[in-house]
Amino acid sequence: MSDKQQVTQRWEAYIEKIKARCNEMIAQANAGTDAFIPQLLFDTNAINNAWTGIKGQVFQLDDKLDEGWDKMDDLMDKAGFKSKEWDAEYAKSGEAKIQIHWQYEKNYILAMAKAARQVLFNVKNHINENKIHTCTQCGNALNISVYSFRAKNIKCDACEAVNTYKPDDRIIALESWVLVPLANEQALAEKEAEYFAEERRSYADNPSKEENENVVKLRKASINKYYQYLIDSIPEKADHYVRQRDQRLEWAERLNY
Ligand SMILES: [Zn+2]
Repeated sequence: MSDKQQVTQRWEAYIEKIKARCNEMIAQANAGTDAFIPQLLFDTNAINNAWTGIKGQVFQLDDKLDEGWDKMDDLMDKAGFKSKEWDAEYAKSGEAKIQIHWQYEKNYILAMAKAARQVLFNVKNHINENKIHTCTQCGNALNISVYSFRAKNIKCDACEAVNTYKPDDRIIALESWVLVPLANEQALAEKEAEYFAEERRSYADNPSKEENENVVKLRKASINKYYQYLIDSIPEKADHYVRQRDQRLEWAERLNY
């Protein structure tokens, strides 16, 4: 084996070691999530906080890759690497960083979705859907959907008095604790495609027109998937989400920032 091959092999082994460390951290975090989920009540704060801590640790692996690269410098010099070969080796750590970051992001999204399902289960168990809501003026039963996300004025069929119905706080909170994480999970495949195209584009010195167009296309696909879930799940707030989606779609066109 040539000196160059030996150096390359050593570098690749180092990168693999860092990736394995990342997998270990993520596996631990997932085990922690699974153990804690049964203790959740009506919010997912505890899981979110745990993963924020893990994020710091996982992203520190970037520094490990940089340290490793610094040590390769001298070895590559001695082995006589040419500039192009040098770039190719360096690109391997860039690619590893991209993969490690996504590994975190993907598992975070899945953990939050799991936690969200537990919260949804708990809320459903605590809400009495059959409770009768009556008109404050005449006592007639009001036609109310318990799973509402904002306060509503409801006119009584019998006496026409307007009653204000305020949904249970735990139901209102489902929007952020449950539906947003589930929307992220729904759009996971689109997010992944967008993420890799976006990151690789940012590492390219001079991205091609096709590469740029592809990033815009994938951004839009991921935005559409995410918002469609929220629009379908919360029809009463569809206007709000359509507006937000359209703003994001406009942003998706912008590549130079
Ligand atoms: Zn009434």
